[in-house]
Amino acid sequence: MIIVANWKMNPKTLKEAEKLFVSIGRGIKIRRKKRKKLPEIVICPPSVYLFNLKKELSSLRSLTPFLKAGAQDVFWEEEGAYTGEISPLMLKDVGCKYVIIGHSERRRYFGETDEMINKKVKAALKAGLYPILCVGETEKERKKGNIGDILRKQIKSALKGISGSELQTLRFSIAYEPVWAIGSGKACEAGEVRKVKLIIKKVLSSLYSLDVVKKIRLLYGGSVNGSIAGKYIKDGEIDGLLVGGASLRAGEFLKIVDNSFE
Ligand code: PEP
Repeated sequence: MIIVANWKMNPKTLKEAEKLFVSIGRGIKIRRKKRKKLPEIVICPPSVYLFNLKKELSSLRSLTPFLKAGAQDVFWEEEGAYTGEISPLMLKDVGCKYVIIGHSERRRYFGETDEMINKKVKAALKAGLYPILCVGETEKERKKGNIGDILRKQIKSALKGISGSELQTLRFSIAYEPVWAIGSGKACEAGEVRKVKLIIKKVLSSLYSLDVVKKIRLLYGGSVNGSIAGKYIKDGEIDGLLVGGASLRAGEFLKIVDNSFE
């Protein structure tokens, strides 16, 4: 089980980010004493905070197996004249394990195409990062009723040219994030998520062997909060959650963690 926090472009100061991180860390520490089986928790802050939060994490050493740092995006080149970008090697160097790739906000506001996402996935895998690939349909696409086609296209393009063995050696996750559910308060029904999971599995099975498909984790993201988190794990039969807004409140995020025990 994995719970990923996507802080997006929040909070406004490093001080607030450290406070939030420490509050989550302390909450996990308390839960760790009570429960043996904790989900893996990945915090993806804005990249300028990564280094400091990573240092904070080393002072909470006992949490290292559970609490990990991730990035919200990555560029595909290793170094060079690419103003404003951050390379996979840089993320690795500051202690990042996971990286979110292809979030709908990046597709929508920054013109990320399926081709760019494919390059990013390849570069992340090459650097030994664990990609969390985001896919999902817009409201308009949903109304047209072609969710399967949209997901098939997004997944096939993102994984183009990537072998099963490359995926098998690292932890690869796919997050189903219907665009209409993100930040809208209209979460997708757990039963519906279960159906989409089958569609994704079918697409993956057309590309890879069963062994590889079994290793790919499937997450749900979109307006998840503490009260509904458990439903996805139970009825949605998924391997984890990607949480945006609710991950900015330590109490709410810890409630999600509490509701995500298998
Ligand atoms: C997200 O941005 O990945 C997300 C799931 O956001 P929210 O939880 O706020 O809908």
